[in-house]
Amino acid sequence: MVLRHEEILQSPSVWRPRTPEEAVARKRALGADAVFAAGGTLLRTRWEAGTEAIPRHLIDLGSIEGLSGIWLQDGDLAIGALTALDDCLNDPLLGRHAPIVAQAIRTIAGWSVRNVATIGGNIVSRTGDSLPALLAADASLVWIGEDGERTEKLADWLSEPIPDRARVRLLAQVRIPLGGDDSIANAKRFFAFHKVGRREAFTPSLVTVALCGSLEPDGRLTGIRISAGGGQTVPARLKRAEELLTGRMPDPDALGEVYEQVAADYAPAPDPFAPDMYRKLTAANLVVTELWKLTAAGEAAGGKEGAPCR
Ligand SMILES: Cc1cc2nc3c(=O)[nH]c(=O)nc-3n(C[C@H](O)[C@H](O)[C@H](O)COP(=O)(O)OP(=O)(O)OC[C@H]3O[C@@H](n4cnc5c(N)ncnc54)[C@H](O)[C@@H]3O)c2cc1C
Repeated sequence: MVLRHEEILQSPSVWRPRTPEEAVARKRALGADAVFAAGGTLLRTRWEAGTEAIPRHLIDLGSIEGLSGIWLQDGDLAIGALTALDDCLNDPLLGRHAPIVAQAIRTIAGWSVRNVATIGGNIVSRTGDSLPALLAADASLVWIGEDGERTEKLADWLSEPIPDRARVRLLAQVRIPLGGDDSIANAKRFFAFHKVGRREAFTPSLVTVALCGSLEPDGRLTGIRISAGGGQTVPARLKRAEELLTGRMPDPDALGEVYEQVAADYAPAPDPFAPDMYRKLTAANLVVTELWKLTAAGEAAGGKEGAPCR
């Protein structure tokens, strides 16, 4: 859908609520004529492309206190939804506890955009490049709605086919668990995030993959999480590939099977510049290459040392 010029050019009223509850109530009152705005970077690209009209009302979330920052809470790393992507990168807690997420954020846009774009906006878009890394880190979302606060797994929210537009809610936090069942002593933790675009840097993604897990002292893989997205694809966990690997050694048989499984299960949204098959094989190659780096042959060839997933 491309809009007419006069449909795009209209000046919205800007509302500055002080609390999440006030923002939700304002949105409920104004309905489809109002849009939440965080950094506004994605909204702006949609308005400029003419794929979305400038709404009659903008509800600016930037004036709400308590939605920014990164801290430790109840065994989780908590990230306020209004935290700018660049502030995420500069925060030592994120680097220490969720380096895979930091790695993904580093690939998003350039500094001038990351300086105002928020992690919440990236998530709510449902196609942001931080999402595969957050899925691999087993993140949850904390929402504030008309019926109060609700936490749900990011994977569950993304698997909803069409978000319920009638439900008004504001993303308040992203939570990443600090330790889980897979935090096994002496196991070698590993993680990787890759974004492949149309060029080397400052590019929209075509394929994104994230994976993390542990290599136990006996050489078996545990706690594997693999996810993939890219472009207009809503990212998802690749559960069958995860199951295939769990308890196995990353030997040539396992890697061959997981290659086939990733190529079969990763379902990229259509892109006018890159055929599905190219993107499926790219995702499969990226996942298998990371797993191969864990093998003796991979390490001998210069594969990187294990590192914490989160
Ligand atoms: C030049 C340029 C390059 C870009 N490159 C990339 C890239 O490489 N990778 C990538 O992933 N993105 C990219 N983007 C898109 C965008 O910058 C990011 O997705 C960004 O993180 C969006 O955050 P924002 O705060 O600006 O969101 P906004 O534009 O403010 O909002 C985006 C959507 O989320 C909703 N929303 C925002 N915050 C909340 C909240 N707390 N609760 C409920 N709803 C909310 C808004 O209503 C809107 O629908 C790029 C944008 C530009 C302009």
